[in-house]
Formats: sequence, C-alpha cells, structure tokens
Amino acid sequence: MNTQQIRNEYLKFFETRGHKVVKRAPLILTGDPTTLFTGSGMQPMIPYLLGQPHPDGQLIADSQTCLRAQDIDDIGDNRHTTFFEMLGNWSMGDYFKEQQIEWMFEFLSEVVELDMSKVYVTCYIGDDRYDIPKDIEAAAVWKRLYEAKGLSSGEAEIGSEEDGYKRGIREGERIFYYDGSKNWWSRNGSPETTPVGDPCGPDSEMFYDFGTPHDPSYGEHCHPNCDCGRFMEIGNNVFMAYKKVAEGTFEPLEKPNIDHGSGLERIAAAKLGDPDVFKISLMWPIVEKLQALSGKSYESHTTSMRVIADHLRAATFLAVDGCKPANKEQGYVMRRLLRRAIRFAFELGVEQNFFEEIVPVIADLYADDFPEVKENRDEVIAVLVKEEKVFRQTLRKGLKQLEKFAESGLTGTELFTLYDTYGFPVELSTEEAFKQDIKLSDNWREEFDANMEEQRNRSRTATKGEFKGGLGGDSLQHKKYHTATHLLQSAMRQIFGEELRQHGSNITEERLRFDFNLDRKMTPEEIARAEELVNGWIAEDLPVSYKMYPTQEALDMGAIGPFGERYDAEVKVYQMGEGDNIASLEICGGPHVDHTGQLAEGGKRFKISKEESSSAGIRRIKAVLI
Ligand SMILES: [Zn+2]
Ligand SMILES: [Zn+2]
Repeated sequence: MNTQQIRNEYLKFFETRGHKVVKRAPLILTGDPTTLFTGSGMQPMIPYLLGQPHPDGQLIADSQTCLRAQDIDDIGDNRHTTFFEMLGNWSMGDYFKEQQIEWMFEFLSEVVELDMSKVYVTCYIGDDRYDIPKDIEAAAVWKRLYEAKGLSSGEAEIGSEEDGYKRGIREGERIFYYDGSKNWWSRNGSPETTPVGDPCGPDSEMFYDFGTPHDPSYGEHCHPNCDCGRFMEIGNNVFMAYKKVAEGTFEPLEKPNIDHGSGLERIAAAKLGDPDVFKISLMWPIVEKLQALSGKSYESHTTSMRVIADHLRAATFLAVDGCKPANKEQGYVMRRLLRRAIRFAFELGVEQNFFEEIVPVIADLYADDFPEVKENRDEVIAVLVKEEKVFRQTLRKGLKQLEKFAESGLTGTELFTLYDTYGFPVELSTEEAFKQDIKLSDNWREEFDANMEEQRNRSRTATKGEFKGGLGGDSLQHKKYHTATHLLQSAMRQIFGEELRQHGSNITEERLRFDFNLDRKMTPEEIARAEELVNGWIAEDLPVSYKMYPTQEALDMGAIGPFGERYDAEVKVYQMGEGDNIASLEICGGPHVDHTGQLAEGGKRFKISKEESSSAGIRRIKAVLI
C-alpha cells in the first residue's frame, strides 16, 4: 500500500463509519493574524472544538495539508519536513475514547497492516493536584487490543521526558504513562499553562519503533518520547474531556470531543519499515528526478536532495493556494523556500533552471487526489519558474559584483553587501571564491556575522517603528507626512486593488517614503491619479480620529495594518473621514494631525517626487508636501 492509498483508505475508513470527509483548508488561513500558515490538522477545527457547531455535522474526517516554516533551516534529517499531510478525524460530542482507540488500532493493523508489535503507545499519568486521574481507561482499551493479537501489553510509569531517559523501557512493556508535558492537550500545552475557559484533556500517542540504535547523546536510555529517531510519533488521539474553569481547577465537559491527527508521511514510512520519510511514494519520485537531473546519487547528496524535495513540495502547495513570492509575510517564506532550493541545487551541480522539471513531478503526485492541484497545475508551474528566473538574474549580477570585489580579496563586509544588496547567499559567495581561487580575509566570518546582526537589529527597530507608525519623531511635520502616508496607501489600494500593501515606510522632516508591492513601474497617469486622490481628501479636511477595537473586529471591518506582527488583544484603529466617507482605516500607533486639511497649510499640495524600484517586486515612492 503506497502513501496515496494510505490517505485514501483512511478517509474511506472513516466515511464508512459515519464521518463527513471535508476538503482540506488552504495553507493560508484568512482572518487569523496570529499565524502565517495552517500548521496542524486541528487548527481549522478549533472553533468547532470550542463549541461552534460544524456545518457538516458532529463527525468529520480529512487530510489537512500543513506547513511549519519555523524550522526551515533544520530540514535535512530523515523525518522533518516543512510540508506534510495530517490525517484527522473528529467527534464533536459523539463517540469517545474507547471507540477512537479501537478504530485507530483497526486502521493501523487491518487496513495499513502495520506490524503492531512495533507500535507503542503513551497515556496520561494523571495529576493529584488537579484531581485528574491516570488514564487507565485508555490503557485498558489498548491492552485488550494488543492481547487479542497475542502481543505484549505491559504498562510502565515514566513521568517526564528526563525520567524516560533515566528509566528506559523493559521487556514486555507496551503502554507508557507520561506527565502533562507529553500527554496533555490544550491550546497552550500542559494543565498548568492551559488557558482558563479552554477545553483540554489527556491524549494518547502512537509511536513506531524502527529498531535503529539509540543515540546516547540524547540521554542514557531510549524510550518512546526519545528524540534519537528510533521511535517516531505517528499519531495522537486527544480526549478532550475537561474544561479549565479557574487556575488549578478542571471540570469534566458534558460532551467530550475526540481530536485525532496522524502524520501521513510517517505512517507511510512505518509501512515501508524505513525511517527515511523521503523514501515514501509521495517523495521518492522527486528524489529520483533530482538524481536523473544531476547525475548524483541520493546516498552521496542526501541533505541537498531532501531540502529541495521538501521546499519545492511546500512551495508548490503554497502556489496552489494562491500565494506568490514576495518580500513579506507568507510570500517571503515562499521566496525563501524557492531560493534555498536553488542554492542547494548548486551543491548537486545543477546550475541551470530546473523547477520546470521538478514541479510537474510534484503536481502529478497530487493531481488525482486534489482537484485544485490539477486545475492550477500550469499556473503553479509558471509562478515558480518565473521566480527561479528572477533569482538567477540576481545571482548573475551578484557574480559580476563578486568579481569586482575580488580583485583585492573578499572581506566580510563585501560578502554582506553581496548578500544584502544582490541576494547572493554567503555559502555561494565563498564557494565561488574557492572555485576562482579568490582570497578571503581572515576574519570574514566575524565581520559578516557582525553585519548580519546589525541588520537584524535595524530591521527589528524598523518593524517596531512601523507598528508605531514609522515615525522618527513627533514634530508637526512628521505628523503631517505620517498622515499623508495613510492617505497614500488608501489611494494606491484604490488604484491597484486590495493586494497592494505598504512594505515599509520612512519619514523625515522633508519627505515621506512609501514602499509597496507592484511588479512594474507606475504610469504617469497612475501617479497623477494617486496625487489627485490624496489632494482630494486633504481638500475635504477630513477629521482624523481613533478608537480601540478587539483585534479580530478591527481586521473584520477591513482595517489594514502591518502583517506578521503579533497584535495585542486590542488595537488602535485610525480613521480619516466619517460616516460613509472614510478615506483611511488603519491599525496604527503613531501620532497624526487632527484633520487632513492641516496638510495643506501654507497653500501646500501633495506631490509624488519619485517612483522607483526598491527590490524584486517592490517599488518605492518618495512624496513631498510642497
Ligand atoms: Zn533513543
Ligand atoms: Zn498612522
């Protein structure tokens, strides 16, 4: 049974048991400013688990595509990927613990036909402080099922992860009890940190034992929650049975829920009996294509091939879900994934365009099971291929600059300039220098790192500044230019559509600067139109006011604000105009003038003095009140 079949059999299994199979949610969840991507199967279900009725009923199943971009730099081992599918089934107040465990056991043993002697489970150990009992109910169900197969079913009390490394596992043991740090589910982890008012409960995880030797650098003994790679978590059953009603107090829920999620790729690896998830049928064809393109073997170039396969798979689904490479937010992550794939291709000796070879392979792996992949296939390929071309141009320019710098050897600051201005990754620069026999200064690494750190600090300050309103000061002139920036953003969005967003701003006593996403030069007509709109609102002398709103409400009413920023629970929304004549609605913290007419004081008018390219896909306007 291959990976695709495991997914489809899972959905069929739960469909024949009364579940409605729903379509996956997109990778980009709209209306959720706290997170960039759908990171788990449960995430789109949270409102329903919190009590809102699901339109498709109480029993739901799906395969949810997920993206976790936090660990992008760590991809390369045999089991971590940024993109994965999570098989999920939910009972909202219907069946509970016993039924869930029986079905999971049946699915893994009878449908996937896993060797159950290698599947181990964990249960919650209980906590006297909160009167939450040890989950002997779940353990008893597992025990009965294992015994019916003639398999060992011994129980062991572990406790914490550290206890696990001290104790290890003993002959005949199958069911392991861990504490709240491992076997308790809430939106914020263990019972202590569960938010008051939230549902929560014990969970029971399933691990597959690949039998690889334990790596003692993790701890003395191996145990199911050891990170050495011998045991791989394949799934988790959450028994949402409690509600935290006050600090330290948990009450049973009247109608408990089941939330189950399993990693499709990991079950497929267990089925193959190989801990390398890149060997499964949804991954291996990508690796095979890379081997054919490069003439190199997976064994000799494992990390590069894993990174490329993972990153292009993630970027393909991002493109399917409408994301485009950009310099901010989700588009920035997508751009990073694609550029990293190109960089790792250099290590395979692939220096020419290759997305057009790989992306169709990926799309075809999913086209039969996800109609949206089939529908958007050509467009997805075009988006990725275009980004590859743009980046290779950047690389060529960088290469020329590198050769100029190289005449006197390369310093860390020059390497940083190549990276920062030309988008030339430092690994490529140093490799190129090595190839061309160019000397690197002795302290290039320290100097490069120092430049990077300085830039990080700058951008941190800039982000904060942007959230406060991009203000360097509180003078009247600053307030005027800042207020004008709001109006300019509104004008630009009227002209170019809602897609257009501010990508940075900077204000001095003399001018404003406004960066925005647009992949071409503005025409003289568009510039004139933007000026006309802004001057129109200034002439109307609109009142400027603000109100505090709960963040979700602010976003729902269409207030725009810097994205990727963690919002406070309440935000300040600035409004210019009133009634049905509102020129601007922005989440902002900065000081503004009281009415837009002040911008015209002294007979001044708003004028765009410059429109130029800032970086790939980003344009920059400078404007004055003159
Ligand atoms: Zn281990
Ligand atoms: Zn503002």
